[in-house]
Amino acid sequence: MTEFQLLKNAQPTAENVREAIKADPGFGNHFTDHMAHVRYTREQGWHAHSVRPYGKIVLDPAAAVFHYAQEIFEGLKAYRHADGSVWTFRPQKNAARINISAARLALPEISEEDFVGSLRALVEQDVEWVPTPASAADEVSLYLRPFMIASETFLGVRASHEVDYYVIASPAGAYFPGGVEPVSIWLSQNYKRASHGGTGFAKAGGNYAASLAAGEQAAAKGCAQVLFTDAAEDKYIEELGGMNLMLVTREGKLLTPELGDSILDGVTRRSLLELAPQLGLEPEERRIPIEEWREGAASGEITEAFACGTAAVITPIGRLVSEDFTIDHGDQPGEYSMKLRTTLLDIQYGRTADINNWMVRLA
Ligand SMILES: *Cc1c(COP(=O)(O)O)cnc(C)c1O
Repeated sequence: MTEFQLLKNAQPTAENVREAIKADPGFGNHFTDHMAHVRYTREQGWHAHSVRPYGKIVLDPAAAVFHYAQEIFEGLKAYRHADGSVWTFRPQKNAARINISAARLALPEISEEDFVGSLRALVEQDVEWVPTPASAADEVSLYLRPFMIASETFLGVRASHEVDYYVIASPAGAYFPGGVEPVSIWLSQNYKRASHGGTGFAKAGGNYAASLAAGEQAAAKGCAQVLFTDAAEDKYIEELGGMNLMLVTREGKLLTPELGDSILDGVTRRSLLELAPQLGLEPEERRIPIEEWREGAASGEITEAFACGTAAVITPIGRLVSEDFTIDHGDQPGEYSMKLRTTLLDIQYGRTADINNWMVRLA
């Protein structure tokens, strides 16, 4: 187990300021006093593991990441349980995924030990930043954002020989402070997020950059998110810009697009598929034509739709809006959507037995 050398922040946030932030954190606005860092060079591999004061990163303007977007990231949360202990959810899955992303973006793989170790080292140091839920509806957490950048000073086009890995942490409030409400999503018809052979299965910043213009179109139509279809035929539903998509059928199926290489393998998606049988749902992964959803929603065959991901767990979809048609699931969250949501949150916050051994203690 590699030690993370602690370089303590000499000017940590004052306690009253920290408590005020935790009382109303929003999402991604405030950061803790420290960050984890590991350095990679071709000669030395991963080395210089540290937890250091949160602060600016100094890079040369010619650093590769600025020019060719050689960057990947992860997202997971630390949850405070009733006894004060702090846990995270299936971090081994994120460790495996960052390495799948790394391989595609020609970045070096990092061991599961270093990945989980970096989360633990940072959360141990900044444990006071993990908010305590006031009730089961108070879905507060410490959001953890590991990321890896190509930091070699070099304008030639090839994989960087120097890489830096960091973890930063940000207290996060409930995604739906006023209770879970279905959102409208926009069907992007002129933009694609990913194609066969591309980087859609990698958690890469570049995929997000490619989705932002579609996001602006969605916002202009009053929609919260964008749904992308497959690039080859423009026929099958794939996923949203940062969340996977699921449908529930009248017959009790939990339907979701099969992964292929253009859809991100979400930990939430995978966990919901694994939990489905417990709630009497039969999971099914396959290609789903947008027409099937449209007709199924109209006939009553498809009863619920939701997006899923670490940030919002499950976001019910009330409406899918496009230039040509609208799919309407109404403004109440679906029954199974909410049951799945509660089941997962109860595991994450330690309110139910963790029979799958999904939780890993950080502090
Ligand atoms: C991160 C992400 C998801 C959700 O993955 P989780 O592991 O469930 O948080 C889905 N789609 C995309 C494109 C993502 O980047």
